[in-house]
Amino acid sequence: MKNNKNFRSKFIDSLRHQGIKNELILEILATLPREIFIEPALRTRAYDQDALPIGCNQTISSPYIVAKMSEIIYERDNMGSVLEIGTGCGYQTAILSSLFDSVVSIERIEALHVRAKKTLASLNLKNITLIHGDGHEGYSEQNYFDAIILTAAPVKVPDKLLDQLNENGRMILPLHVDGSQKLYRLKKTKNGIHKKDIDDVRFVPMLEGKV
Ligand code: SAH
Repeated sequence: MKNNKNFRSKFIDSLRHQGIKNELILEILATLPREIFIEPALRTRAYDQDALPIGCNQTISSPYIVAKMSEIIYERDNMGSVLEIGTGCGYQTAILSSLFDSVVSIERIEALHVRAKKTLASLNLKNITLIHGDGHEGYSEQNYFDAIILTAAPVKVPDKLLDQLNENGRMILPLHVDGSQKLYRLKKTKNGIHKKDIDDVRFVPMLEGKV
């Protein structure tokens, strides 16, 4: 892409301006080529601050929301394993792969799962397992995760995902509440779940079953 470097430095300036402070995350976003996750016809808009269509009626989240979710899932000394629900185009997955030791990501739409697999393979990232399945079930082959992130909004916190979270683990998720959505950060402690309200958001709904 013409002037790619210029696009990317404006992209990072804009994220800083919107309040993203974690330098590691800004550095990852600055080096990851966002255009390869986007359909060719929309690639000139890859470094805009918009959510964009990725086919199958789904969207890649805006760069700010991806950066924000990465920032709130970050805990310097607890970056072992992460489970992502909603691979979509794989952009957030690639960022998680730079932050965590291992990533499992589940997508319910086969066409998106297959495309994300190709895109992520082209980046040669070795610590990612991609699954075509329903995220409500979690990933039982690996029982416990240090972190779980949902990029589609359920109506309630899926029980199986809570079960698969380590004690002291955290879950970042959008939840439907009274006709709108809020982003929450849950922390699992031995005394129960602590819930923190982060922001108003709009994600696609988390649906049942795989297609
Ligand atoms: N992080 C993604 C966001 C994609 S939108 C990206 O950057 O592209 C959310 C994704 O969640 C969609 O691809 C949708 O198909 C998927 N999804 C919705 N319900 C799901 C479920 N039950 N299990 C797995 N994926 C689901």
